[in-house]
Amino acid sequence: MIVSITFDVEHDCPPYLTTTRGMEEGLPKLLDLMAEKRIRATFFFTAEMAKRFPELVKRVIDEGHELGSHTYNHERLDKLTKEEGAKIIEKSLKILREFGDVVSFRAPNLQFPDYYYEILEKNGVLIDSSKANYKGYRGGVKFFGNVLEVPASTTSSVIRLPWRLQRIIHSRLKEPRVYFAHPWEFVPMQREKIRWDCRFNTGDKAIELLGMLIDHYKSQGAMFLTMREYYDLYGNLKRE
Ligand SMILES: [Zn+2]
Repeated sequence: MIVSITFDVEHDCPPYLTTTRGMEEGLPKLLDLMAEKRIRATFFFTAEMAKRFPELVKRVIDEGHELGSHTYNHERLDKLTKEEGAKIIEKSLKILREFGDVVSFRAPNLQFPDYYYEILEKNGVLIDSSKANYKGYRGGVKFFGNVLEVPASTTSSVIRLPWRLQRIIHSRLKEPRVYFAHPWEFVPMQREKIRWDCRFNTGDKAIELLGMLIDHYKSQGAMFLTMREYYDLYGNLKRE
């Protein structure tokens, strides 16, 4: 069984807020949890957050996690021309690669028209995780050109549902199980004027629930893979 824990590292609840409480308080807590559970995860950063919080990018890399791109400042790629989108992807990669290797990408709001695969490939990106099974993508894990699509399995709010409810959802997922969450979900958002599904069980409850999710899969002997590790494994399976 393969599980990937991924985080979209951005300012708080875009496009509704512009604060960065998730960066200041949420991300350090997430990194502590990953260290405690001995799990390596993938962190898709916007370049803007990487510039403002370089010490957190360094921590991600030093602690053995994978750094990926989540565009420059959370731009919706489907609302831009291909040329504008390409510029944003290039600009993001250039900044993030000052910290280390970057070979994976996730588009904001999981909006990723297929013509962007070619742009990723041109920029040396090997893995995309911008499609989602829960948003109607049915292609499974597959190559688009030389870019491997590893779709997300569930929307991020699922992992804040009461445990007895989310357990049923986890049991129905197919391989690979790719979860994602955001740093801002791990600080209390109950008082913010944002959609209810962005608020419920945010804060320490979310940390507790993510810990339960990890323990649940650990008890089943799951392998936790970063996007890069998944790519290496999948490529080898294909060749056999
Ligand atoms: Zn995002």
